[in-house]
Formats: sequence, C-alpha cells, structure tokens
Amino acid sequence: MNLSALTLDREGLAAAIACEDAAFEAALCEAAYRVKVETVGPEVYLRGLIEISNRCVKDCLYCGIRRDIRCPRYELSEEEVLTTAMIAAERHFGSVVIQGGERTDAAFIGKITRLLKAIKSIDTGEDPPLGITLSLGEQSREIYEEWFDAGAHRYLLRIESSNPDLYRKIHPDDPLHAYDRRLQALYNLKEIGYQAGTGAMIGLPFQTAEDLADDLLFYKEFDAPMVGMGPYNPHPETPLTLSGAPYPSAERRFALGLKMIALLRLLMPDINIAAATALEILDPRGREKGVLSGANVVMPNITPQEQMTKYNLYDRKTLNASDVSDLADKGIPIGYGRWGDSLSSLRAACLPGW
Ligand code: SAM
Ligand code: SF4
Repeated sequence: MNLSALTLDREGLAAAIACEDAAFEAALCEAAYRVKVETVGPEVYLRGLIEISNRCVKDCLYCGIRRDIRCPRYELSEEEVLTTAMIAAERHFGSVVIQGGERTDAAFIGKITRLLKAIKSIDTGEDPPLGITLSLGEQSREIYEEWFDAGAHRYLLRIESSNPDLYRKIHPDDPLHAYDRRLQALYNLKEIGYQAGTGAMIGLPFQTAEDLADDLLFYKEFDAPMVGMGPYNPHPETPLTLSGAPYPSAERRFALGLKMIALLRLLMPDINIAAATALEILDPRGREKGVLSGANVVMPNITPQEQMTKYNLYDRKTLNASDVSDLADKGIPIGYGRWGDSLSSLRAACLPGW
C-alpha cells in the first residue's frame, strides 16, 4: 500500500490496518510524527502513574487483576500516595494519573476525594499545582462530580472495544460489565466537564481490522481530547488466554499499536495521545517508538516498586518504570512542570493553558 493512497474513512483505515508492509508502516509513522510536531509541537508531556490498588469488583476476562484471579492484593495508604505524588512534583512531572481496580465502596470513594484535595495542595515550587487524571473505572455520576469538585480534571476510561459484540466476548455477561453502562459513564464524564479520555486494546482475539478502524472513528465521534490505547498482552491465567482463542503475534500487536497511534494522529491532529505502557512490554524502546509515531504523552510509572510488581495486568517484568532519559537522549523535548492538556481541549475552552 502507498501512503499517498491512504484515506481516513472506514475503508481506508481498515486497509491501512490490515496492510503488513513494513515500508508502508514506517512511512505512516514518520508522516504522523511530522503532523504531531507541526500541530501540537515536539514536546512530550508526563503523567506520573500511581497504581493505587489492584483490588477490583469487576472480572474482565483479559485482566490479570480481575476479581476472581488469585493474586496478592494491595492498596496504597493515603500517605504512600501523597509521598509518591510529591516525587512527581519534585521531578516537575506536572501531573499524575491515579489508576486502579474499580471500587465503589464508600471508604475508597472518600479516600480518593481526600487525596485529590491533598495532592492539589502540594507545593510544587514555581509550577502550577499538579494536574490530576483519574482512571478508576465506572462510577455513578455523583461520584464523578465529587471527584471533579475535589480537583480531578481529566479521566481515562477506555471503551476497550467500540464493537459491542466484541466487548461482550471479552467481558462477563452481566449488568456490571455492560457496554452501554461504560458508554454512559464516558458521556457523564464529558458532561461534568472532565477531559474524558478513552481508548481500546489492540490485537485482541476476535478483533478485525474493521473493528480497529471503528475504534478510531469512535474516538473522533466522541471528540475525545485524549486517547490511551495499547496492545493487548495476554496474562497466562485469564479466561481469555485459557480459552485458546487466537490473537496476533507480539510483533504484530506491537506494529499495530504504533500504526493505530499514527492513524489517530492523522485523524485527530490536535489531541493528546499516550504511548501506552503495554508498548514497553513488547519492545524496550516501545515508548520512544510510540512518540516517534505521533504520541505526545508518556506515563512514567512511579508506583512504589513492591506494589508495582503486584499490579500484574499482564507480564510486566521488562517495565522501564519512571526513567525518561531515553526520550531526552533522543532529543525529544519534555514539557516539565506543565499539565499538558490537549490543544483540542484548550481550544474548546478558549484557554491559553499551562
Ligand atoms: N479498572 C479501571 C478500568 O478498567 O477502566 C482502570 C484500571 S485497568 C487495569 C486499565 C486498563 O488496563 C484497562 O482499561 C484495560 O484496557 C487495560 N488492560 C487490562 N488487562 C489488559 C491486558 N491483558 N492487556 C492489555 N491491556 C490490559
Ligand atoms: Fe478491574 Fe479494570 Fe481489570 Fe476490568 S480492566 S478487571 S475493571 S482493573
């Protein structure tokens, strides 16, 4: 396939996704990187990733910390989260992501509310207060409002797959795991005023090139200001892996991960796109390659080491953790001390931004 023949409609996107020609894929990633630099600038923004807990009430069939899997569980104390957030402030990361299993109990909800207020009051020196993204699954509208009022301004909730049939195949069949519930949560976040980010896994069993094209078109239709999508990485003990359903090779999933970033950058030039952790698992230079394919956000993992190893969505032994010198060494400028909100969201709010 020739890059000049690429069209960004469903048919063109699916053809590009299905094409396994390495020269085409390299040219696509280079073109997307140029568009990124011209549109949102060369900087990469940082989100210090704090994995607060691997306890979860849900049982997604692909996830290594699902409710029914036997694994050591942990939950960071408020003090541990605050200490970790302070590390992000000291290193001028500009913002943090608090991510974890889905919990809806009052103790957990209250803890997050207190933490948001405490993190907002950390003295960051000359920088603005830390920006906070949450990624804590589906919650009621009231809880989302409570957390927004307490200081969270971005929320990441992947749709996982925009194809309801595929979504059903990778989740238990019950109301807690319903596609419509997840979609409604995304719209609630947006209405409340969050920058509502979404994303999907790439290279899942049963997934077609058309499904992936539809994921890209879903982000566009939802007008997502940020997208965090990444390769599916099988965990040996999940029902999806144990079912034996085939999925693409690691090499293919990695190439697809980069290609999806590149296509999305062409489709939505002014949004934030994260180089997902799952890329790093498949290639030690995955994060850098994600940036060179059009991503402009990376999430250095600052979770304390002992707990990080228990946040075992899939095998993460090779994780590069919190060091970002690989990017600086490549001459990629880092937006230290900045929230790094997407250009699209700043334009929508008519703000100069930080
Ligand atoms: N519990 C929250 C949720 O599901 O939205 C946030 C934490 S969850 C661990 C974050 C993301 O991990 C999910 O959205 C899912 O896409 C991803 N994930 C889980 N298992 C995975 C796997 N085996 N391979 C790749 N990504 C996975
Ligand atoms: Fe829980 Fe999120 Fe894993 Fe699903 S993907 S089991 S909600 S942590």
